[in-house]
Parts: sequence; C-alpha cells; structure tokens
Amino acid sequence: MERSVCISCKKEIVNDPGSVSFTCPVCDKIKISRCKNCREISARYKCECGFTGPN
Ligand SMILES: [Zn+2]
Ligand SMILES: [Zn+2]
Repeated sequence: MERSVCISCKKEIVNDPGSVSFTCPVCDKIKISRCKNCREISARYKCECGFTGPN
C-alpha cells in the first residue's frame, strides 16, 4: 500500500480512517493527504502549484 504523509503536519498517515487523500483540484497531479487531526482543526495546506485550502 502506498504511504502518505499529511500535507499540513507531515505526519505519516497509517491506517487512519479519518484521513483523506485526493488529487489537487487545480493541477490534478499532486496527491494531497490530510490526517484526521488536521481536518478537525482545519489546518491550512498548500499544493506545489500554489493552491491553498482548508478542504
Ligand atoms: Zn496532519
Ligand atoms: Zn496543485
């Protein structure tokens, strides 16, 4: 299985049912992963293409 790292806190996401992974809606290339904690606190994140968001 592919390992993912939270884009906000850089923590490795291991079998976290509250985490999400999706492809950046702007560049459609970079995979964005967020852990449960960062989703709960609405931590900001930024894609390499410059896209930022809480969602
Ligand atoms: Zn996180
Ligand atoms: Zn992007």
